[in-house]
Amino acid sequence: MNSNEIRKTFFDFFRSKQHEIVPSAPMVVKNDPTLMFTNAGMNQFKDIFLGNQPAKFPRVADSQKCLRVSGKHNDLEEVGHDTYHHTMFEMLGNWSFGDYFKEEAIAWAWELLTDVYKLPKDRLYASYFGGSKDDNMEADLEAFEIWKKYLPEAQILPGSKKDNFWEMGETGPCGPCSEIHIDLRDDDERAKVAGRDLVNKDNPLVIEIWNNVFMQFNRKANGDLELLPAKHVDTGMGFERLCMALQGKKSNYDTDVFQPMITKLAEMSGKKYGENKEADIAMRVIADHLRAIAFSIADGQLPSNVKAGYVIRRILRRAVRYGYTFLGFNEPFINKLIPTLVGQMGEQFPELKSQQVLIEKVITEEEAAFLRTLETGIRHLDSIIEKAKAEGKNEIDGKTAFVLNDTFGFPYDLTELIAREKGFTVDKVGFEKELEEQKNRSRNAAAVETDDWVELRKFDTEEFIGYDHSSADVVIARYRAV
Ligand code: ATP
Ligand code: MG
Ligand code: MG
Ligand code: MG
Repeated sequence: MNSNEIRKTFFDFFRSKQHEIVPSAPMVVKNDPTLMFTNAGMNQFKDIFLGNQPAKFPRVADSQKCLRVSGKHNDLEEVGHDTYHHTMFEMLGNWSFGDYFKEEAIAWAWELLTDVYKLPKDRLYASYFGGSKDDNMEADLEAFEIWKKYLPEAQILPGSKKDNFWEMGETGPCGPCSEIHIDLRDDDERAKVAGRDLVNKDNPLVIEIWNNVFMQFNRKANGDLELLPAKHVDTGMGFERLCMALQGKKSNYDTDVFQPMITKLAEMSGKKYGENKEADIAMRVIADHLRAIAFSIADGQLPSNVKAGYVIRRILRRAVRYGYTFLGFNEPFINKLIPTLVGQMGEQFPELKSQQVLIEKVITEEEAAFLRTLETGIRHLDSIIEKAKAEGKNEIDGKTAFVLNDTFGFPYDLTELIAREKGFTVDKVGFEKELEEQKNRSRNAAAVETDDWVELRKFDTEEFIGYDHSSADVVIARYRAV
């Protein structure tokens, strides 16, 4: 099955279970000062769960464009280095708003994965909330019992509050969740480990594919949980990971979601994918980032120097740097990949097609401007090297490497690469010290980043005192009485 068929099969399946298929919400969130980008399928249904808005349909399903580059959900540094976290990805989801609950949600997840998609049952694992003594919270034995109908007990594992209990905020709807993981390791490798060790231990081939949240409680202000009158289901499945499992691949990038872009990059750079570690990472970073950038622009968010625009600019520059450093691109190249992306995804996301001209134009200009900055930085570095040579040195000091990073956007790797070509080393320890000092400076400046949404309630009698990041899924605005 190609990826477009896999997506369609998901919709067809849930349509057959009386779900309304709804469009993705925009990836760029407007009119919410606290949530820059959609980071989960449920974002657009928040008001239904909070009871502020009635549901139009009791059951819906969709594919939501998500971006996880800031706040609690920041996967940026993993991207390209691992093979299953993206900046922008599609989250397939099905929802019940006060309609069906655990029994059906689990039954259908199982039916879809094993009967329809035909994933091997012995490679699937389910987790359920195992309870928390400290918080006086009971295990979700209901989910455990349901899973026993489908899986041997050894493949059903209890999970912690952190992984298996979802809360929208400090108060409000919450409940246990049940994750489905898949083991994609070769048989002989699996045979070496037995039983429960099989489940996700940070092995890149044993990964979470689907999370099923069962909203059954309301967390009251005093911390107590009360049963919700209407229970909801909220699920999210990583589309690219599903494609990897179904297409028998070991990396999301080997699926047809990314291969057209990787192939094109290989052609343009004259390098083969799979031969050199650094070039491979660069190709993955670019293939990933160009989706984040293109989808943002299609939603109307152009790169800029503030807020969401700045996040997008940084992602674009990261891609340019990888291309420049490891693939030898010194002219705009990301723009040339857009037609390939539109060919691959334009059907499902028509905004890509209708905005293609704008997307290409904006990216070309951004790339050209940043490449000029890079060139200026290189000239700056060259002059430093010449001066150092005259002084008989062969090392770039940490401070210089830091200035290049801070002012010219040079990652350490690039400085080192250029220095090495001229027979120089770089004082890495000194560089890291400068970086750390800068981090402390900005930490002290108390920069607050608010990336998930907050419920902003400002009363005359209360004064805003800052954000609380301690909750798992939401940043809470704190007030004190005045
Ligand atoms: P992980 O533990 O792998 O980081 P998660 O627990 O953060 O995943 P959820 O918030 O439960 O993910 O999101 C639901 C599903 O979305 C996950 O089961 C996974 O398949 C997918 N997913 C999450 N983050 C990413 C990402 N950065 N890139 C691609 N897919 C993702
Ligand atoms: Mg995660
Ligand atoms: Mg997880
Ligand atoms: Mg999860």
